[in-house]
Amino acid sequence: MFAEPSFVALPKIENNAVAPRIIYIENPRFPRVGADDLRKVVHAAAALVDEHYGIKVESPSHIPILDIDDVFSKLVENKPPQFKDLIGDFRNGKVDWDIVRDNLVKQIEKQKDSLAEQIDFARPYLIRPLEGEDLDSFSRAVVETFEARLSHWTVAKLADGHPVIGEVPGRPDLPFNEWDYWTLMAKRGIDAEIVLTNQLVASVEYIPIPVHTSIRGGITGGSTEYNPSSRLGSSVWISLFPYLSDDPHIRKFRNGENYTRDEALSYAGAMVAHEMGHQLLQLGHPWSNDACIMRPAEALDFASWVNKFDAKKCRIDSSPAMKPGTMKAPIW
Ligand SMILES: [Zn+2]
Repeated sequence: MFAEPSFVALPKIENNAVAPRIIYIENPRFPRVGADDLRKVVHAAAALVDEHYGIKVESPSHIPILDIDDVFSKLVENKPPQFKDLIGDFRNGKVDWDIVRDNLVKQIEKQKDSLAEQIDFARPYLIRPLEGEDLDSFSRAVVETFEARLSHWTVAKLADGHPVIGEVPGRPDLPFNEWDYWTLMAKRGIDAEIVLTNQLVASVEYIPIPVHTSIRGGITGGSTEYNPSSRLGSSVWISLFPYLSDDPHIRKFRNGENYTRDEALSYAGAMVAHEMGHQLLQLGHPWSNDACIMRPAEALDFASWVNKFDAKKCRIDSSPAMKPGTMKAPIW
């Protein structure tokens, strides 16, 4: 017999108020995010958490800054055996994309939406037209899109003239962009309920990856993960890069729009509030109701996502996905 997987318990929220500890993990190569910027993200999140979930968020008076080199060198030293086998080495062009496609096919078949609906959703973002409307043609085009968009970051450069993702002379070569390591960071226990970073997280793993993550080239904007050091049982992490960057590949996913800094920070706050819905109430994803903050954003088009929010049209308990305790982070 295998042990039953266990999950983070639904946190008890006293007096409908929380006081999360927030930390900021900084990569000095990426655009700087100051203390005022971080406060704006937190205030935007707090307003939405109050409006949509009826929970008050007390903002911390201080947000400590951690150096990403310190955090990641410890994670790499203590990583589980075989951890590396899960990660596709796209930096060196050594990803087995056939395995990625097999996993994607399984993921597509598992969805409640029909294949035609999934194709309609993804079509505007594919890098080439489909050869046919079948699963084989669709999965090939999605994987080609994934590969092209993810490899882009090994070529696109930051202000220092070096690639967004890749080795940089004089800097430690650590897997800052790998989603797996951000999950591991929570599992190892980090003393925060919310983790913000300016680092881009984009990667490919040999696990089932959803279509919406694949077509944007493996970018993850945020996640909620089991964290034994969190007072809520899980912690949220959010990458600010997709909001703050004006890279052409990012802009393609937001209908070509540029955001002002304040817009970008408030949209990042919306993503924090979305993840806090997973964290505080363990809500799921109500795909069919776009008034819900718990419905994931299309691609990276945050302006149109946020503009559809309407708390009155998406109350707690209003649909199966909006019932507390629906989506629980696994304990691993
Ligand atoms: Zn979500």
